[in-house]
Amino acid sequence: MIRYVALLLAVFFPFFPVFAHPIIESNNARIDISSMDYFQEQPNSPLSLLEAKKRFQNDEAISAKTRSLTFGISNKATWIRLSVYNDTMQTVQRRLRAGQIWVEKLDVYLVHNGEVLSHWLTGDGQHANHHLLPDIGYVFNVQLPPGESSIYIRGYSLDPLTLPIQLQDYSVAQLSDVISHMISGGLYGVLLTLIGYNVVLYLTLKQTVSLYYCLYISCFIIMNLGYSGYAFAWVYPHYPLLQNYATLFFMVFHGVCGLLFVSCFLNLPTRMPKANRVLKIYSIIAVVASLVLCVTQQHLWGSFLSFSFLAITTLMLIGIGIVNLGKTADSIYFLVAVTFSMFGLFITTLSVWGIIPYTYIGYNSAGYGVLIEASILAIILANRLKGIEQERITANYLASYDPLTLLRNRRSFVDVGRQRLHSDMTSQSPTSFVMMDIDHFKRINDTYGHHVGDKVLTHVATFLKENVRTQDVLARWGGEEMVLLLSDMDKDDACTFAESLRERIQNMPLHVDEEDIDITISFGVACTQSHNRTLDALYKQADIACYQAKSLGRNRVEAYR
Ligand code: GH3
Ligand code: MG
Ligand code: MG
Repeated sequence: MIRYVALLLAVFFPFFPVFAHPIIESNNARIDISSMDYFQEQPNSPLSLLEAKKRFQNDEAISAKTRSLTFGISNKATWIRLSVYNDTMQTVQRRLRAGQIWVEKLDVYLVHNGEVLSHWLTGDGQHANHHLLPDIGYVFNVQLPPGESSIYIRGYSLDPLTLPIQLQDYSVAQLSDVISHMISGGLYGVLLTLIGYNVVLYLTLKQTVSLYYCLYISCFIIMNLGYSGYAFAWVYPHYPLLQNYATLFFMVFHGVCGLLFVSCFLNLPTRMPKANRVLKIYSIIAVVASLVLCVTQQHLWGSFLSFSFLAITTLMLIGIGIVNLGKTADSIYFLVAVTFSMFGLFITTLSVWGIIPYTYIGYNSAGYGVLIEASILAIILANRLKGIEQERITANYLASYDPLTLLRNRRSFVDVGRQRLHSDMTSQSPTSFVMMDIDHFKRINDTYGHHVGDKVLTHVATFLKENVRTQDVLARWGGEEMVLLLSDMDKDDACTFAESLRERIQNMPLHVDEEDIDITISFGVACTQSHNRTLDALYKQADIACYQAKSLGRNRVEAYR
C-alpha cells in the first residue's frame, strides 16, 4: 500500500511547481524593475562599485533578456544593475531575491541619488548570513525611497553561478515561499517514507540491496539539503567552508552509492565481474579525487569534477540498464527508473549551466527525477522480495511435503509429531500412533503398472486427508506406508477409528480403465503409556503391530500389546 501511495505522490509532485510558478512571477505592485543589464568582470580583477557604475554608464553592459541569469561554472564575477522606480510619495518595502544558494559572494548595493543607502554582503562563502532562505536563495529587505533607485548586484562563485532576480511584494513572496517549502517537504517526506520502508525490508528479509537503496536515497537527501540551502541555514551556518565543499563531495558520493546499488541490484559481481571491477576502480578514483580537491580547497576543479562525474555516472547507469535489458525480469523497469533520474538531472544541469532558461521546475528537476526513480526502484525491490519470499515458501513446502501424495514427509512428520506429543503430555492426554501399509501393493504395481500404483497411493492419501481431524498428523512414511498421529486419543478409540478407516477403504475400490482395483490396508496401533512416551518408541510398537496384522492375514487392525 505504502509503495503505491509513494508512487502516486512521486508522479504528481513535479506538477506542483506548475501551479506555484505563476504566483512567484506575478507581481501586482506598481513598483517593479524597469530595466536590468549586466556584464562580467575579468577573472581575478574585482571591480569596486564606482568602477562598475562607470562601466554601466559607458554602455559596456548587456541588457538582460530574462530575469534569471545563469553562467555555469566560471571564475568570472557578474555585475547586474536594476533600475527601479517608486512612483508613490513614501518609502516602500520590497523583497529582493538576488541569487541561488551556490553563489559564493553576493554584494548588493541600493543606490539612490548617487548615494549608497544600503550594502549587504552575503553568499555561501560568508559566515552566518541572515539573507539565506532555503529553497529560495538569497533575499534582501529593500527600502525603496520615492523616485528612481538603482540596485547593483555583484555575484561571484566557483560553483555554477545562477542569479534569479525578483523584486517581490512581501505577501506574494511569502505565499510562493510556503509553496516551495511544501514541495520540498513533500519531496523529503516521500523519500524518507521510501527509506523507512526499505529499512524495514532490510531488517526483516536481510536483503543487502535494500540497504544500498537506503544509502543511495539518503545520500541524495543530504546532497539536496546542501544545494537547497537547508543545511547551510540550519545545520552549519558558521561553516561556509562546509557549505562550499560538502555538497560537491556528496554529489560524487551520491553517484558512487548509485553505482553500488546498481551493482548489487543487477548482481554485477557474478554476472559482469569485469565491468563491476571497472566501476569499483572508477568510484574509488572519483571519491579520492573529490576528497583531495575538497581538502586542498580547489573549488573550481572540485565543481567541475562533481558536475561531470554525476553527469557521466548517470549516463553510465543508463548504459548498464540498456546492456542488462532482458537479462532480469525487471530490467526494463530499472531502465525506466534511471532514465527518469537522468532526465531530471539533465534538465537541472542545463538550467544551472544557463543552456536553457532558468525556471523553478527546471532548477529542481533532479529532485523530481530521483523521486520517481526511487519510487519505481522501491516497487521493483518490493516485488523482488515478494518473489524471494514466494520461493522460500515453495522451497519450505517441497522440503516438508511428499510431491506425489502431497502428504507430509517423514522429516516434517517427526518435527510436528514431536510437538503434538509434547503438548499431549503436558495436558496428560494419551496420543496414539497408527502405522498403515497397503496390502500387496507390489502386486498392484506388477499387474497394472507403476503409474496405477501411484494412483492408488494418491487415492488412499486423499481419502485419509479428508477423514482425519485437523489436530492429527498424517504423513507418508515411505513407499506404500503411511503414518498417523492421533492427538488426545487412547488405544481403544484409535483402534475403533482405524477400523472405520480400514472398512471404508476396503469398500472404496479405485476405478481405472473400466476396472475396479480393490485396496486394503493393514493397521498397527500403539498408544503412549507412562514408560513409553517418545515418537520413536511409538513408531516401533506400531510397526510391530502392523507386522502382526500382516501375518494374521492383512486387511485388519492390530494393537501393540
Ligand atoms: P505387503 O502386503 O506385505 O505390504 O506387500 P507389498 O507388496 O505391499 O509390500 P512390498 O514392500 O513388497 O512392496 C512395496 C512396493 O511398493 C515396492 C515398491 O516398488 C513399491 N513402491 C514404493 N514406492 C512407490 C511409489 O511411489 N509408487 C509406486 N507405484 N510404487 C511404489
Ligand atoms: Mg511395506
Ligand atoms: Mg505393503
